[in-house]
Amino acid sequence: MNIKSKSYAAQSATTPLAPFAIERREPQPKDVVIDILYCGVCHSDLHQARNEWKSTIYPCVPGHEIVGRVVKVGRDVTRFQEGDIAAVGCLVDACRTHPNYERGLEQYSEPLTLTYNSEDKHLGGVTYGGYSETIVVDEAFTLKVPDKLDPAAAAPLLCAGITTYSPLKHWNVGPGQKVGIVGLGGLGHMGVKFARAFGAHVILFTTSPGKAEDARRLGAHEVVVSTNPAEMEAHVGSFDFILDAVSAQHDINAYVRLLKLDGTLTIVGAPEHPLPVEVFNLLLGRRRIAGSAIGSIAETQEMLDFCAEHGVASDIEIIKIQDINEAYERLLKGKVKYRFVIDMASLKQEAAAS
Ligand code: NAP
Ligand code: ZN
Repeated sequence: MNIKSKSYAAQSATTPLAPFAIERREPQPKDVVIDILYCGVCHSDLHQARNEWKSTIYPCVPGHEIVGRVVKVGRDVTRFQEGDIAAVGCLVDACRTHPNYERGLEQYSEPLTLTYNSEDKHLGGVTYGGYSETIVVDEAFTLKVPDKLDPAAAAPLLCAGITTYSPLKHWNVGPGQKVGIVGLGGLGHMGVKFARAFGAHVILFTTSPGKAEDARRLGAHEVVVSTNPAEMEAHVGSFDFILDAVSAQHDINAYVRLLKLDGTLTIVGAPEHPLPVEVFNLLLGRRRIAGSAIGSIAETQEMLDFCAEHGVASDIEIIKIQDINEAYERLLKGKVKYRFVIDMASLKQEAAAS
C-alpha cells in the first residue's frame, strides 16, 4: 500500500506554498522509508516553486536537503536499518547505464530522477521533495549521516554542502592558492568553510557589507565588497580559482578579470537569465569559465564524512513549515544566516491537528 504523507506544495508559479496531501510508493525490496526530521531550504526550491527555470510541473513539493530517521527498509536493503539517521539530496534515481553513471558521476547521467520535479517512474506524475513527512528512496541514493553531525545542521550539506565541496575538490583547491567565493548565502557560506578547510587563502565577495564579520568568523581571510570598484581593482589578475554561488543576475566579467593566467571561475549559481561574457577577458590570460552540478552520491558520502571528521556543518536558522513563504521572501533579500532548515515536526503537528 502506498504511504500517505502531508506536504507543502506550490500549485502554480504565483501561489504561496500550502498544505497538500501526497502519496509515497509502497517500499520496494531496495527501498528505505524515511521519516523526515529536517529539510533545508535551497534557493533552487524558490527558483522552481516560482517556475524561474521554466521547467516546473505543478503541484511542486520542493526540498532536496533531507535528513530523517529510517522507519522501514525493503527486504534487500543491506546498508540501512530501522532507526538509522539517513539523508537524501538532489537525486533519487538515474539511468543506471549511462557512461557517466558508470564512471560514478550519476549527477551527469541522463535521464536523471531528481528528488522533486522529475518523472516519477513508480507512481506516475512527478516526484515530490522533502517539504513532506515521509520519503521512500532506493538505498543506492540514500546517504548515511555520521553520528557526530547534528541532523538539522547536516541537512544543508545535502545540496549546499556537496555543490561547493565538489568543484573545490575537482579544481584541486588547496594550500598556496588564492580562492574567491562569491555570495554569502547557503552555498557561499559552505564554500567559505570548505575552501578554508582545504587550506586555501579565502576571499569572500559580497554585496552585503554587513556580512563581513560573519564571513571572517566562517573562515574567510579577507572580505571584498563587490560593489566597491576600488576594492575589486586591487585584486585584478590574482586569483587561482573563484566559485560563484550567486542566485541572481550579476556581472561575471568582473570576476573573470580577477583570475590569473589559467585561473578558473566556476559557476554554481543558477540565475533565471543568461549571463553575458566579455570574451577578451578570457583570451587575455587564458582564463576559464566552468560550471558544476551538485556531486555524485559517493562524493556526497565522502563530504558528509569529511564534515564529521573536521567539525564542518551549516549555520542554520530553524523554521516551521508554516513560515516557508516568509522564508522565501527573506531568501530573495539575502537575509538568511545562512540556511533555513524546516523542522518537520511542525508539519506533523499540523497533520495531527487537521
Ligand atoms: P542564497 O542563499 O539565496 O544565496 C545567494 C547569495 O547570492 C545571496 O546571499 C547574496 O550574497 C548573493 N546575491 C543575491 N542576489 C544578488 C545580486 N543581485 N547580485 C549579487 N549577489 C547577489 O542561495 P543559495 O541557496 O546559496 O543558491 C545560490 C544559487 O545556486 C541559486 O541560483 C541556486 O539555484 C543555485 N544552486 C545550484 C546548484 C548546482 O548544482 N549548481 C545547487 C544548488 C543551488 P551576498 O549578500 O553576500 O552578496
Ligand atoms: Zn539545492
